[in-house]
Amino acid sequence: MSPDQSLVYLNGHYQPLCDAKISVLDRGFLFGDGVYEVIPSYRGRLFYLDDHLSRLAKSLNSIRMTPPHSATQWSEIFQPLLDPTKDQYIYLQITRGVAAKRDHSFSDDLTPTVFAMSADIAPIEHLRCGTQALTIEDTRWHLCNVKATTLLANILLRQEALDQQCAEAILIKNGLVLEGAASNIFVVKDGVILTPPQDSNILPGITRKVVIDLIQNQRIPFQETAIRTETLDHADEIWLTSSTREIIPVTELNSRSVSSGTIGPMWHRINTLFQEKKAHD
Ligand code: PMP
Repeated sequence: MSPDQSLVYLNGHYQPLCDAKISVLDRGFLFGDGVYEVIPSYRGRLFYLDDHLSRLAKSLNSIRMTPPHSATQWSEIFQPLLDPTKDQYIYLQITRGVAAKRDHSFSDDLTPTVFAMSADIAPIEHLRCGTQALTIEDTRWHLCNVKATTLLANILLRQEALDQQCAEAILIKNGLVLEGAASNIFVVKDGVILTPPQDSNILPGITRKVVIDLIQNQRIPFQETAIRTETLDHADEIWLTSSTREIIPVTELNSRSVSSGTIGPMWHRINTLFQEKKAHD
C-alpha cells in the first residue's frame, strides 16, 4: 500500500491519508498551537502507553487544554492503525482547533483537532554501531518540558547536525548539557551514569524513564545532576535516548572520539536489558 493510502484517524473518522484534510484556520497550522506524542508499538503492542498518555495530559494541561479522550478510548483509536507484524510508532497530534478568525488569543470553547497515524520505525542498526554528534547552543523556548508541535528551533538544530554529518545536536545552555534536539542524554564517567535533572529545560522522555528504571534496578551508581559541557570531553560513554531510536551510543563528539571511540560496556549492559524489556513488556 502506498503511504498515501494508509489509514489515519482525524476527528473521529478513519480515512486514507490522502483524504485527511484540516482547515487552514486550524490553530495548529497557524500558530503551532498544539501538542503531540510519539508512541512506539512493537509487533502491535504499544510500549509504555500509560506513560505517554500521562505526558500527553501534562502537555495539554500546560497549554490550558484537557485530554479529549480517556486511556481506554485512545487505545481503541490507535488499534486499527497498527500492524501486528511490524515495529511502528503512533504519531498523535492535538491542536486547539479551528477558530473563526486568525487571532493570537483563544477561547476555551474550541473543539480540538485530533489526528493520529502510524508509521514504520526507521531501521536503527547503523546508529547502534556508534554515532557522531555535535554540541550547539540551545535556541529553544523556556517550556521544553511541553511536547509542543512548535518545533522550529529543534528542527533547525537537528538540521545543523545533519549538515555536519552528525546524527544529533546536543544542546547546551549556560554551560550545561541539557538534551539532544530530539532525544535525552546520558553520560557515563568512572562507573557512574549521569543525566540532567528533569526540569523545564528538557522533555520528560519516556525512554529516559525506562532507562533510569533499568539503571536503578541494577543498582548501578546513578545521578540526576547538572552536567557541565566540559564533562562531555572526558566522558567514558555518551548515549542519546528516544522512542524511535531507543538508546544510541555516541562515539564521536565535535569530530573527536568519545573515550576510545568504541561503544562502552555500560551501553551494552543497559541496551541488552532494554531489548529484553521491549520483547517482554
Ligand atoms: N527530548 C526531545 C527534545 C525530544 O523531541 C524527544 C523525543 N523525540 C526526547 C527528548 C525523547 O523522548 P521520548 O523518549 O519520549 O521519545
